[in-house]
Amino acid sequence: MPIYQYDCSGCRRRVDVFFRSIKAVVDQPACPECGSKKMKRAVSRIARGRTDAEAIDSIDFEQELGRLESGDERGFARWAQRLGEQYDGALGTDFSQLAERTFAGEDPSDRVDPAFTIKNKVRRAKEKLAPDTSAGDAH
Ligand SMILES: [Zn+2]
Repeated sequence: MPIYQYDCSGCRRRVDVFFRSIKAVVDQPACPECGSKKMKRAVSRIARGRTDAEAIDSIDFEQELGRLESGDERGFARWAQRLGEQYDGALGTDFSQLAERTFAGEDPSDRVDPAFTIKNKVRRAKEKLAPDTSAGDAH
């Protein structure tokens, strides 16, 4: 059961919103505290003590993506699910949905190129999280 955190601008709380399934996730859920729909998805929390960039860095994407090439679709689906839970919010990816589709029997490579997607997203996320200081210009 997916759980997402939202920042509610109605009551200014950070709230957990539960969805019955990935398919039940809606863009504008109502706040469980005050009923407001002025909710913004909070960026996923990542393991304590590490920055987002370090956490993203620690994933062995090559090895994980090898599962897709090896035809281990359930292994890939579990990986995509885990990745989605941790990073969809931060990276703007749709791995949760990809996992759901893979579990449902679709071939994920029909839909996306996960290797391309994740590398791109991770590169961009890293740039955002840890601006290249050698450029000498933090915006
Ligand atoms: Zn609220």
